[in-house]
This record gives sequence, structure tokens and C-alpha cells, in this order.
Amino acid sequence: MRGFFFTFEGIDGCGKSTQLKEAASHLEKDGIPVLVTREPGGTQIAEKIREILISPENSEMVNECELLLYLAARAQHVREKIIPAIKKGVVVLCDRFQEATFAYQGFGRGMSLEFLQKVNGFATGGLMPDCTFIFDVPSEVSCRRMEMMGKKRDRLEQNGSDFFDRIRKGYRILAEKDPEGCLLIDGSREIGEISEIVYKKINKFLKSALLK
Ligand code: ADP
Repeated sequence: MRGFFFTFEGIDGCGKSTQLKEAASHLEKDGIPVLVTREPGGTQIAEKIREILISPENSEMVNECELLLYLAARAQHVREKIIPAIKKGVVVLCDRFQEATFAYQGFGRGMSLEFLQKVNGFATGGLMPDCTFIFDVPSEVSCRRMEMMGKKRDRLEQNGSDFFDRIRKGYRILAEKDPEGCLLIDGSREIGEISEIVYKKINKFLKSALLK
């Protein structure tokens, strides 16, 4: 069977890592080879770039530097880890990918989407997810969940709630513009209900590959 590439997106606290773990354990139970990874990160070099990106010490980072660091990490991750896994028939589940660039740098920071699509294409070499799951929650829900987890705010989380409102809206617009590639899911539903929706969709892809 060919490999697959599914990405999990949304603002912090939307439940993407919870859903990614749920999907991974479903797949593992079915005996399907899975690779769980994340952006920025996933390889030694990209994890070092992640440290720079999230460190609250780097509050003076300009938007252009931020974008290029994310893309540098992605370029390494795609070539060193994601593509080789897909080629081996593995199902790759990735916490954030290109939609995060469009939502955060585009809708959040105000960069041109057309430009972002071009430079992102350079970073990915044209690799596209088979499906992007976008978990939609209001920024108040995200804040409440993050507080409950007692998580310290990283550099990006130090932005105000209007920043996260713009990103949430951006994710919704991206899902609307690409209904084939993205599945927008209400992230305030029960964890089990959401994981059913995600697994159903993943299974559809796996089954269609078996028929080919
Ligand atoms: P993210 O990876 O998007 O930042 P997490 O998956 O880490 O978010 O979830 C953040 C917090 O919210 C965790 O404590 C998690 O248990 C909780 N959570 C996740 N999904 C739901 C849900 N559907 N309903 C209620 N709480 C949730």
C-alpha cells in the first residue's frame, strides 16, 4: 500500500495533538505503520529551529525571519523524514503543516497568501497532504484549555486574543476555499466524537488505496 500524509491544524488548545494521538492509536491497533511528527520540528535540525521560534527570549524576531525559519524547518522535515516515510508505505500524521503558514503568517501577520503559497511550494517541493484536519474552536476555549493545562506561554502565545481570532477565521476561510483537501471539524465536540470523524476520513483514503 502507498503511504499517506495527514495533517492536523488549528489554534493552540484546539485539540490537534489529542486527535493525532487518537488517530495514531487507531491505526496502530489496525496494524498500519504510522509515523507521528510535528512542525516546526520532526528532525534534529528542524527541532533546533523550533527552539529559536518558540523561545520567549526572541520577542524581537521580525515577521520575515519568522516565516523563513518555519520554511527552513519544513524543507528539512519534508525531505529527511516525511517523503521517505510515505515512500515506505507509512501513514504520516503531522501536527501542523502548510495551512499553519497560511493562517499564522497570512491571516495573523498580514503577509500575501499568493506569496506564501509560492515560498511554501519551494519549501515542500510540492508535497501536499492527502487531507488536512482543521479543528475549529473559539479563542476563549483555546485559552481556557491552555490555562487548565498550566502551560507557560511561548513566543507566539504571547500575542493577544485578536491575533488568534484572525487565525481562527483564516483557518475557516482556508477550509472553505479547499473543501477537497481540508476537513473543518468543530473542536468543541467530545473528544471521542471528533476522533470518529477523523478516523472515518482516514479509513476512506486507506480503503480506496486498497481497491487500486
Ligand atoms: P493542541 O495540540 O491543539 O494545542 P491539545 O490536544 O494538547 O491541543 O489539547 C489541549 C487541552 O484540551 C488538553 O488538556 C486536552 O485534553 C483538552 N482537549 C482536547 N480536545 C478536547 C475536546 N474535544 N474537549 C475538551 N477538551 C479537549
